[in-house]
Amino acid sequence: MSQAVEQGTLYVISAPSGAGKTSLVAQMLRSDERLGVSVSHTTRAMREGEQDGVNYHFVSRNEFEAMIARGDFLEHADVFGNYYGTSHVWVRETLARGQDVILEIDWQGASQVRRLIRECVSIFIVPPSPEVLRERLVGRGTDAPEVVERRLAEAEEECRHAAEFDFLVVNDDFDVALADLLAIVRAQRLRMVVQQPRHQKLLAGLSGPA
Ligand code: GDP
Ligand code: ADP
Ligand code: 5GP
Repeated sequence: MSQAVEQGTLYVISAPSGAGKTSLVAQMLRSDERLGVSVSHTTRAMREGEQDGVNYHFVSRNEFEAMIARGDFLEHADVFGNYYGTSHVWVRETLARGQDVILEIDWQGASQVRRLIRECVSIFIVPPSPEVLRERLVGRGTDAPEVVERRLAEAEEECRHAAEFDFLVVNDDFDVALADLLAIVRAQRLRMVVQQPRHQKLLAGLSGPA
């Protein structure tokens, strides 16, 4: 008889642009092979150093709208005037294989996912101050000055939704924030609902006959 595979856990991570979520998630993946990240579709222009299929699947607005019409997305949203969306099929298949999945999405997407997948774990990441956020966005050097200004303006709206998330991580010292994120993942794997089926024999042996 084949053993049923445990569903993976879905993590939804949001943050104002420039808070450090992409860098932190990249490091989480290097630290834990049971974590995978969903590669979103987007209509925004590719940044220098980005690769199609790695950072995002870069598509035209027409292609994106055709995908919406086909029902390809678990969630999608308009962020800073571009479309961003998460593939439905990839997420479900990866979770079904027992792998944990991270979605790096905006607050609108997070709220859609929370409604669809109630057992997801949501994490909001903030920078230590508005000044630091500006420094990081400018320092990253990937966006034109007007794009940086737009993202900073939108950051306030994003942060107004922080309280909707299960966890809050402050990304001041990078290594502390990374350890916090990995601690959340570790704690999820120790929950009784996850551990009980895994250690059924051990618990039965320790409990003795009823
Ligand atoms: P960065 O987060 O500053 O590196 O900027 P990006 O251009 O990579 O992402 C822009 C915004 O789109 C961020 O708020 C992301 O969280 C959001 N985003 C990225 N992918 C998705 C997605 O698949 N769905 C949704 N809803 N939002 C996404
Ligand atoms: P996001 O994906 O949230 O937009 P990034 O991961 O692109 O953010 O980070 C924005 C910039 O800030 C990058 O240049 C990154 O190297 C830098 N950064 C991220 N976390 C920290 C930190 N704790 N201290 C200093 N710089 C950081
Ligand atoms: P960037 O353009 O800097 O890569 O991303 C900007 C914002 O878009 C980030 O806040 C990111 O979380 C969000 N984003 C990226 N992919 C998705 C997605 O698939 N869905 C949603 N809702 N937001 C996304």
